[in-house]
Amino acid sequence: MKAIFVTIFPELIETFFSVGVINKAYKESILEFETINPIKFLEKNERLDDSPFGGGPGMLIRSEPIEKAIEESKKLTSKNTKVINLSPQGKKLTQKRAQELSLEKELIFICGRYEGIDQRLIDSLVDEEISIGDYVVTGGELPALVVFETIVRNIKNVLGDINSIKEESFSEEYIEYPQYTRPEKNNLGRVPEVLLSGDHEKIKSWRKKQSLGKTFLNRRDIFPEELDLKDFVLLEEFFSDLGYESDRIANLLKGIKRK
Ligand code: SAM
Repeated sequence: MKAIFVTIFPELIETFFSVGVINKAYKESILEFETINPIKFLEKNERLDDSPFGGGPGMLIRSEPIEKAIEESKKLTSKNTKVINLSPQGKKLTQKRAQELSLEKELIFICGRYEGIDQRLIDSLVDEEISIGDYVVTGGELPALVVFETIVRNIKNVLGDINSIKEESFSEEYIEYPQYTRPEKNNLGRVPEVLLSGDHEKIKSWRKKQSLGKTFLNRRDIFPEELDLKDFVLLEEFFSDLGYESDRIANLLKGIKRK
């Protein structure tokens, strides 16, 4: 996949491509990138930003230099390459959307700064706005890299083992179970006995129980309203393992229907 980043801070993008599995995939030409700095399209004494019409704090990036940067990006890619603007006003990034975008051969990312970009540019030249979450950071570079990395993890040969994403959080309905490595015992505690048992069925069931419990505790927003009986029992067990009394468990799970 080839990505073009429109940014006034290309060094942030270059650093990202210089380490780890992303660097390896870049060296192997599985990933390609270019940066285009919209500042280079400014005439002498012209500014990248200006104050918003109607008043209000901060400055906005003018549409013209970004339009020129998109034009140049499209010379380096095919004409219908998707243009993604990073924005807290966009649709929230999901694993599913990242998987869909991993099928694209090229993508153009617009990294905003200040209060964002003149809306006319977004309405005319942007195909999709993506947010990385309900909070605001200072610039679009880190969000663009978060989106890009989430996308490219789904491309064969970018990760050492593509299977490693299959069991990750959000690849299924639930978040991932806790994991442990050597030593079996240290000053912080022991690894759960079941993981040392070698009994694959028991390990699978324990992991499912942990995934269900963690998702219930940390991510009620994505937890299903209905569970099959087997999973419901695992969830009850999760809380019983934590020392909850049965009345408390019944009360906690009373909103969950059983299939
Ligand atoms: N005034 C904008 C608003 O309230 O929606 C926030 C602008 S923010 C300070 C500057 C830039 O950072 C944005 O143009 C965008 O590129 C990026 N940005 C900030 N938060 C983001 C988020 N949650 N998701 C994606 N991009 C974000």
